[in-house]
Amino acid sequence: LASRDPPRIHRLDESVVNRIAAGEVIQRPVSAVKELVENSLDAGSTSINVVVKDGGLKLIQVSDDGHGIRCEDLPILCERHTTSKLSAFEDLQSIKSMGFRGEALASMTYVAHVTVTTITNGQLHGYKVSYRDGVMEHEPQAIAAVKGTRITIENLFYNMIARRKTLQNSVDDYPKIVDLLCRFAIHHKNVSFSCRKHGAASADVHSVATSSRLDAIRSVYGVSVAQNLIKIEASDANPYSSVFEMDGYISDSKYSAKKTTMVLFINERLVECTALKRAIEIIYAATLPKASKPFIYMSIILPPEHVDVNVHPTKREVSLLNQEVVIEKIQSTIELKLRNLSEASTYHEQE
Ligand code: ADP
Ligand code: MG
Repeated sequence: LASRDPPRIHRLDESVVNRIAAGEVIQRPVSAVKELVENSLDAGSTSINVVVKDGGLKLIQVSDDGHGIRCEDLPILCERHTTSKLSAFEDLQSIKSMGFRGEALASMTYVAHVTVTTITNGQLHGYKVSYRDGVMEHEPQAIAAVKGTRITIENLFYNMIARRKTLQNSVDDYPKIVDLLCRFAIHHKNVSFSCRKHGAASADVHSVATSSRLDAIRSVYGVSVAQNLIKIEASDANPYSSVFEMDGYISDSKYSAKKTTMVLFINERLVECTALKRAIEIIYAATLPKASKPFIYMSIILPPEHVDVNVHPTKREVSLLNQEVVIEKIQSTIELKLRNLSEASTYHEQE
């Protein structure tokens, strides 16, 4: 075997490359929903409705009332690396939208059947067009439409046998999709969200736009969560450590749960940060007598140049400059809040 001639190297077919890349961007049904909802938010929508069939494998449909897509852009809409959001690499530093790579819709067309219905402001009718492997399957058809965009994803992973089988054999993604929309709904409190199973009479997430964060949390996570929350805020303007602002709600000593719920937005992006989550859990375990796992909603704003958004294919994680400093500051803010709480309650008990 050692003396065998080396195998020849050849270029992969473009369709193979695209399908492999697509499988990384769209890892499972919930990742498709996240990309579609983020597009709707980027389009300035105030109402976003999601319908799901078979955990998203059969159908995912996201309808919004955003600015819509121009008819003349439809031919390249689902090509890889076509976007209205980014031009130069440097723009990544100041990007306000959640999308920037122009890969989500393209990816979906490589692993599913995608249909787009859209209308822009002031038009008499909208357009409907279907895509496969990055290209339009036919000329856009004129169609009656009210406002915004509806994107339908059918038969996700139809051409990725292993992925489809694995997903079919495990618990479906519907609970993950519901969870995702709950998270978006409490952060984007001015947007109304709904999520339902295809054919179901009632929605499993139904949030109404509100100006109060606590109302948003109450409508999504229920009274039992909302009544046991306290507001937190922190900021640090020391230019030599890290400039950041944080605000949110954390559970008090009356809240009880077996698992931590951590809804974290950094610079308006829904992300995960295991280190921060652990750090907060430690404070709860050390400070509150009955160690319940906490509920945390937190929004952190950092200078854009301190956040690298391009470290993960699903954009699920970001990397932060001075992460330790940020985490320590948040830890001490929460610790102080919880200590004040428990002192206040011991005081009451002594009365
Ligand atoms: P990205 O979001 O990174 O730009 P996408 O593939 O997700 O890439 O979307 C490509 C483009 O399609 C977006 O830049 C945007 O202009 C347009 N688009 C996608 N979804 C919507 C939507 N729901 N409403 C309006 N425009 C949309
Ligand atoms: Mg996008």
